[in-house]
Amino acid sequence: MSDFEEPLHMTPDEFRRRGHEVVDWVADYMANIEQYPVLAQVQPGDIRAKLPPHPPEHPEPFADVLADLDSIIVPGITHWQSPDFFAYFASNATGPAILGDLVSSGLGVQGMAWATSPAATELETHVCDWMVEVMGLPERFLSTSDGGGVIQDSASSGSLVSMLAARHRLGSADAIARMTLYTTAQSNSSIEKSARIAGIPHERVRFIDVDDTFAMRPDALAAAIDADLAAGLVPMAVVATTGTTSSAALDPLHAIADITEAHGLWLHVDGAYAGSATVCPEFRYLNDGLERADSYVFNPHKWLLTNFDCSLLYVADRDALIDALSILPPYLRNQATESGEVIDYRDWQVPLGRRFRALKLWFVLRHYGMAGLRAHIRRHVAWAREFAGWVEADPDFEVVAPVPLALVCFRHTGGDDVNRRILDTCNASGELYLISTVLDDQVVLRLAIGSVTTERRHVEAAWKAITAAAGCVGGSS
Ligand SMILES: *Cc1c(COP(=O)(O)O)cnc(C)c1O
Repeated sequence: MSDFEEPLHMTPDEFRRRGHEVVDWVADYMANIEQYPVLAQVQPGDIRAKLPPHPPEHPEPFADVLADLDSIIVPGITHWQSPDFFAYFASNATGPAILGDLVSSGLGVQGMAWATSPAATELETHVCDWMVEVMGLPERFLSTSDGGGVIQDSASSGSLVSMLAARHRLGSADAIARMTLYTTAQSNSSIEKSARIAGIPHERVRFIDVDDTFAMRPDALAAAIDADLAAGLVPMAVVATTGTTSSAALDPLHAIADITEAHGLWLHVDGAYAGSATVCPEFRYLNDGLERADSYVFNPHKWLLTNFDCSLLYVADRDALIDALSILPPYLRNQATESGEVIDYRDWQVPLGRRFRALKLWFVLRHYGMAGLRAHIRRHVAWAREFAGWVEADPDFEVVAPVPLALVCFRHTGGDDVNRRILDTCNASGELYLISTVLDDQVVLRLAIGSVTTERRHVEAAWKAITAAAGCVGGSS
């Protein structure tokens, strides 16, 4: 006996009604995005203090849930979709991507194997192949070659499974026990985390020296590999980055590939941020040398108009990945899998289960067309160059790293404290959100343009706010 008033579930009719309300809510949020302080102005614990200590015993009206969204949740949101969001790298959310994700939720399929939803697998394979064409990626990454693409939840996961494949390729337990990994201190934190999970301790991750553009020095890489070989260690892989998180530095892929090929090392390339730019022919040079990489990852969920989560991983040899990750218990066996004619993407990732992420990317590609993708990237790059020009023209400021894309690293010449205070003043104002990094042991401000909502006037306003903050904190004469 149940004391529950029927119906238990939200009916399709009620879903339709509530769904319209929620879509209206999101559309209102988009329309009002400029009104919010970019960085959430709350203290730790503020949000939880407004939530009831216990979950409801009885059903609550849907309207109450929506009301609490406004009163409790929104004040604790840092508004990544704000046009004044210049921190980290953007996390693009767009109408078509949100709707594609909604359809994915509505279908509720779990596409771990081809048989568990053939369209989920085949659309994913297809959009990954499309992106090879759109971005001018090497043909070895096509599903019709020995390689192929897969959509992961994050670049972190893509890098991790690449490391697991590289490790598996070493073969013997003895080699695995002595494996070493090469990257730079500028690479993303996810790289060392991947290494740690793959069983490579910090002591065997080599952070190769960088040049004055913060890019990996191939001579230093070669020397480190030679030293490790002489010490009886087993060099396993190099992780190069095109577009580092700190400063968008570009590791020289060809020079690095000369070394990885000579020693039989796995070359993984992390283009999480910069990869999206290669939808434009003028940025295709970023892919030079990728045809010599074993794996490559980039994030449409950063700068390619697609909601988190959507990260594409390409491998040149899919068997290397599948051999490392495939486990086939009786309950996962099926005719399609046994036939060898289908892709089972569970063998390309860490989790068994997987969302139908290809839908949102497909919606995006069709809504914007390739011309739309290119226009999106180009305006951000143009504004970043303009911003860098303003910085250079101001005697109190300097640009401290090359600006290949839409990230500008700059600093006030007054020293670390002044830069920290400029940052804190800007972020506390709620008018914009920036973060800092450290380059050459100096605090550096980072302005990353990438929001879908950003217009040129927001970039201008950001520069005004930064120079005004410099005046307030005593950084200007
Ligand atoms: C953002 C970023 C990552 C991490 O991306 P996730 O998808 O959040 O794991 C990795 N590498 C670079 C260069 C990045 O900028």
